[in-house]
Amino acid sequence: MHRRPTLTLIVLSTLLVLLTTTALVACAETSAPPRATYAPPFCPNPARIPRPVAPAEKVSLPILMYHHITRLPPNANATWRTLTVTPEAFEAQVKWLADNGYHAIYFSDLVAYFRDGVSLPEKPIILTFDDGWTDDYTVVYPILRKYCMVGTFFPPVAWVNRSNGSKVITWSMIEEMSRGGMEFGSHTINHYLLNEQTAQRITEELVGSKAALEQHVVLPVVALAYPGGGHNPLVVSLAPKAGYGAAVGVKAGVEQAHSDLFLLHRITIPYSDDLKAFERRITPKSAPNAPVPPASIKRP
Ligand SMILES: [Zn+2]
Repeated sequence: MHRRPTLTLIVLSTLLVLLTTTALVACAETSAPPRATYAPPFCPNPARIPRPVAPAEKVSLPILMYHHITRLPPNANATWRTLTVTPEAFEAQVKWLADNGYHAIYFSDLVAYFRDGVSLPEKPIILTFDDGWTDDYTVVYPILRKYCMVGTFFPPVAWVNRSNGSKVITWSMIEEMSRGGMEFGSHTINHYLLNEQTAQRITEELVGSKAALEQHVVLPVVALAYPGGGHNPLVVSLAPKAGYGAAVGVKAGVEQAHSDLFLLHRITIPYSDDLKAFERRITPKSAPNAPVPPASIKRP
């Protein structure tokens, strides 16, 4: 009679220890940064799982390149028309992607897919924004969140908080967007053409920009966008040594290959695109990605 409470106590204590251990292990497993592979954390239904893509050496994955999201005067020149999309057109494009089953992912998801066989959604896409303009915060960020998408932003760190105008992104904007699920990548410190620099200068630009960004953002800085597309074999070889997992080059295309992780293709979206042109531009010419049965999904 007297032993029973003691035994119960021992059993209860053991159970408590077991439960605590399990909880700690679960915590450790889920303490990785939030990932967008299955849906960004701010979405109303983050448990939604798109059909996963079978591991392969190549994947259809449009990486869209935007610069300015604003309206242009009628006399804007060809360069501006290549680098700018109106806010209305941008929202229509993002809505079209969401309505047509695309899932925006992070560069770390693409690296994990090629290197570790971690599943991607059937129709993955990466949206990138170069040069760190205020539009990233005032226009792009709210639209992406509205449609459950994430984006990757490439501000050259020497341009952040630049005092000569209000058109550049600030560190406080970057911090807020990062906490809100957005990814930041390196566009170096000074936006020099890296193929014209010495090995030492290239390394300083790559290492310094990554370290500066990582003082302000939640997710690790995995991706690099070569300023002006400038790269050569030396630049490409120094990028992984500086701690990057992927880099975008200048060749256009919607197919990405494991062997091209540091020369990934991007698609420029110009001012003139209507939705039909946009759809044509991002649709793969080859067969779509082959999904695998849910039982084979390898989770991050
Ligand atoms: Zn740039």
